Amino acid sequence: MNPNLLQTPIDYLKGVGPNRADLLRGELGIHTYQDLINLFPNRYIDRTRYYKIRELQENTSEVQVIGKIVHLKTVEQKRGKRLVATFVDDTGEMELVWFRGHKWIRESIRINVPYVIFGRCNRIGHQFSMPHPEMELLTEHESSLRTAMQPVYPSTEKLANKGITNRVINKLMQQLFTETGGRFTETLSPALLGELSLISKQAALFNIHFPKSQELLAKAQYRLKFEELFYIQLQLLIKNLIRKQKIKGYIFDRVGEHFHSFYDDHLPFSLTGAQKRVIKEIRHDLGTGAQMNRLLQGDVGSGKTIVALMAMLLALDNGFQACIMAPTEILATQHFNGIKELVGDLGINIKLLTGSTKTSARTEIHEQLLSGELHILVGTHALLEDKVKFHNLGLAVIDEQHRFGVAQRAKLWHKNTIPPHILVMTATPIPRTLAMSLYGDLDISVIDELPPGRKPVKTVHRFDSNRLKVFRFLKEEIAKGRQVYVVYPLIQESEKMDYKDLMDGYASIEREFPKPEYQISIVHGQMKPADKDYEMDRFVRGETQIMVATTVIEVGVNVPNASVMIIESAERFGLSQLHQLRGRVGRGAEQSYCILMTGHKLSGDSKTRLETMTRTNDGFEIAEVDLNLRGPGDIMGTQQSGVLHLKIADIVKDNQILKAARYYAQQLLKRDPSLAAEENKVIRYTYGQLSKHKNIWNYIS
Ligand code: ADP
Ligand code: MG
Repeated sequence: MNPNLLQTPIDYLKGVGPNRADLLRGELGIHTYQDLINLFPNRYIDRTRYYKIRELQENTSEVQVIGKIVHLKTVEQKRGKRLVATFVDDTGEMELVWFRGHKWIRESIRINVPYVIFGRCNRIGHQFSMPHPEMELLTEHESSLRTAMQPVYPSTEKLANKGITNRVINKLMQQLFTETGGRFTETLSPALLGELSLISKQAALFNIHFPKSQELLAKAQYRLKFEELFYIQLQLLIKNLIRKQKIKGYIFDRVGEHFHSFYDDHLPFSLTGAQKRVIKEIRHDLGTGAQMNRLLQGDVGSGKTIVALMAMLLALDNGFQACIMAPTEILATQHFNGIKELVGDLGINIKLLTGSTKTSARTEIHEQLLSGELHILVGTHALLEDKVKFHNLGLAVIDEQHRFGVAQRAKLWHKNTIPPHILVMTATPIPRTLAMSLYGDLDISVIDELPPGRKPVKTVHRFDSNRLKVFRFLKEEIAKGRQVYVVYPLIQESEKMDYKDLMDGYASIEREFPKPEYQISIVHGQMKPADKDYEMDRFVRGETQIMVATTVIEVGVNVPNASVMIIESAERFGLSQLHQLRGRVGRGAEQSYCILMTGHKLSGDSKTRLETMTRTNDGFEIAEVDLNLRGPGDIMGTQQSGVLHLKIADIVKDNQILKAARYYAQQLLKRDPSLAAEENKVIRYTYGQLSKHKNIWNYIS
């Protein structure tokens, strides 16, 4: 068909006047015919079954009843008016109720004429009542397209109030198919259609809106989901290819003195297989002449720091500077001390730059950076300040990436004419499925092995009522010379309630663990940084045995002697947060414990989280469960959610289709990277539309 027809403004569709057009645009983002055709149903319901009023039961899902309205009245209420209709069939009577849109309903409703009503029922006393039913005259109902699977379209309250019901959308869809003849251009290549036995675009669109059978509906869904995911993957992969071709990177082809002397003389342990593999991957990237943009995933304690350090040493060996950026001052300081200790007397100039660096030291850092005297700069986002100028930054390492936005990543780029290589490290394992969709433009390395000799943390769930037993256990551990974390939830650092919980908890621990036998540290978000550092320091040095804290210690802190982690109100933490917290212990040679404290009242999700934590220590497994519980949007925050606004596919549920889509996109690009081949014409054309539109479904129609 003429593709321009699909670009017709929605106002021109028969049945859509200026008012409806405005509503469709405003509420559903439907501007054109094309947008409407790509409004996919959320679900389907069986409209072949009709209920008698006598058969109605509470809490059944939507039901469909044939009958007549015999009476219509307005009932005044404290909270506004209600419009109530008495609806009867030959078995009884019920009420239909509207709280809004009275004018429109009064005008359009006909008394004593057979209607088919559809909706959910409530029971009020002996009577059933259906709020805001969907209604259709029986005569119209009989003449319209009936299927066992009636689509239910996305809607909004405003649309419902203005009378744009599901049935109206359905009618518009029928009209659209009439006007366009239901002929839609194919958007996948014949090869793909054949190989995957996909139905045509045309058949898919028809059956997604007017399913002829369960089987055809399933085929339509598969085809459209595949297509959606395929073009997303193709886009990500092509972006990555282009980046590799276009974005020049420094070539680090020397493996020199720093790297070798560190490897030979300063490595305090032998690297794990996973660490070696990842270092190899990084070395490969750094030698290709393209800019490296790599995400390094590794569970807490898997040893990412040393990998980052060795990559930085490569930069130094090739005459470049390197930097590492951490999300908090505590972490930056820990990196700084750790790295200093590791490199020892290698003659490397390392400095720390954070918000609290003194002006004189700061000036010195700025000067040494510019002159090239400074080799490695460690710091917080203070590194991103305009005043921080490098002589030649070759590699930027970003730790705990989810705390920094993409924009901040980009900022580091602009510190040079040629962008530095970027290594992003995260301890939040991102399930592969999600990583593939979110970071298709990054290369991904995974450290999936812990250093040898680590004993897995033993995790248990205890109810608050067993607190005394838990305290007794703590005393035993402390008597053995161990240290303990007690963590309280603090979702928002300003939440007063949380603060009170923390202070109450602190008081009760002070009572139970009196001085001078026990020393307690406390760290929370309302303390001054200097005081936090002081308390943290006391704990690190072993002067205090108990650290009472809010989640500020969530990330990165390393105290190998701490072997017990108590998490209070554990039901309030997310899974990945619990896992992060648990990662604070189990860093030394001793058996470590994580005790999850909760009350007796637990939601289903909380139970799943607790059960998962006590069952496994595997961060990736935990991340998968988390993804299933929360959905991808919540996990990644809004920041990257752009790619997650899928219209039909679901990154979690359609995991298998996603894998297939990625596989076929990769195969395609391997054979035909520029999509020049005749047989890929359709894909090239469709892909070409990609950059023109934000909404992915605009470029695949
Ligand atoms: P993370 O990946 O959480 O940043 P770190 O880099 O802080 O982990 O490493 C955790 C601890 O494990 C550190 O004390 C580090 O020295 C140690 N470590 C790292 N790699 C190894 C290894 N291959 N063998 C033994 N210990 C290691
Ligand atoms: Mg770390």
